[in-house]
Amino acid sequence: MKLTFLGTGAADWDINAYRQGEEFRRFSSALVNDDLLIDPGPHIFHFADRSGQPELLKNVKNIIVTHTHADHFCEETVRKLCVDGDAALWGDRACIHKLERVLGKDIAAKVDFRETALSLNGPADIGGYEIWSLRSNHQTEDISETTRLYLIRETCGSGGTGRMLYYGCDSAWIPTESWNVIKDKPVDAMVLELTCGTAAPNDWRIFEHNTLEMLELMLKTFRKYGYFSKDVKYYTSHMARTLHTGHAELAKTLEGLGVTPAYDGMVIDI
Ligand SMILES: [Zn+2]
Ligand SMILES: [Zn+2]
Repeated sequence: MKLTFLGTGAADWDINAYRQGEEFRRFSSALVNDDLLIDPGPHIFHFADRSGQPELLKNVKNIIVTHTHADHFCEETVRKLCVDGDAALWGDRACIHKLERVLGKDIAAKVDFRETALSLNGPADIGGYEIWSLRSNHQTEDISETTRLYLIRETCGSGGTGRMLYYGCDSAWIPTESWNVIKDKPVDAMVLELTCGTAAPNDWRIFEHNTLEMLELMLKTFRKYGYFSKDVKYYTSHMARTLHTGHAELAKTLEGLGVTPAYDGMVIDI
């Protein structure tokens, strides 16, 4: 299973400040193989164009949504992939409400939207993947929305390896009901969010995002009890521009914890 990071930043990055060749993070989004998109964010086509892969998203068949904050969910991106294209959109009902508000009911009705419930009784089959929708510790303006973490297992077709990915942007910690599903799974790659870095100790965002201290504590606990697969690898994403120093310094800090910070365009083989 291949994972391409299309964006690795939090909501404080400004796409207008992008300069080719300079360090930059777009809003967080990731592509599993070439057909499953995690979060239809506003910058994914910018990534495809600027990385010289204009066709990168043309095979996307399914889109899963973590939550409808504007850095993760862009109505115009959904229109391109689901109305002009034929991708299906999976997530909380808040997605369709937002599409109706912004694009209008007529265009929203053209989106193949599939509401997903939280997967406390098992995963949903979505286009060759088993996907667990799990609650994240986060909130949007729509208080009825269940914001989500995802566990994704590649199951079908030639790529049916059974390999498993955890994707957790955005969330502070992992809520108990989600942890009880994740902890016994043979997860091969964990993408943890790290909104707050060394520039933000004791930050108020600990109630909705992770800090470096929280990441360290979670990793120690994962390793102490031997959770996940034997060769599980750890990555971070969703780094805030104003709460971190540069990527090289972050990579050095995280090296000591056995974690790799993702960057835009990083591809991992899970
Ligand atoms: Zn975010
Ligand atoms: Zn958010």
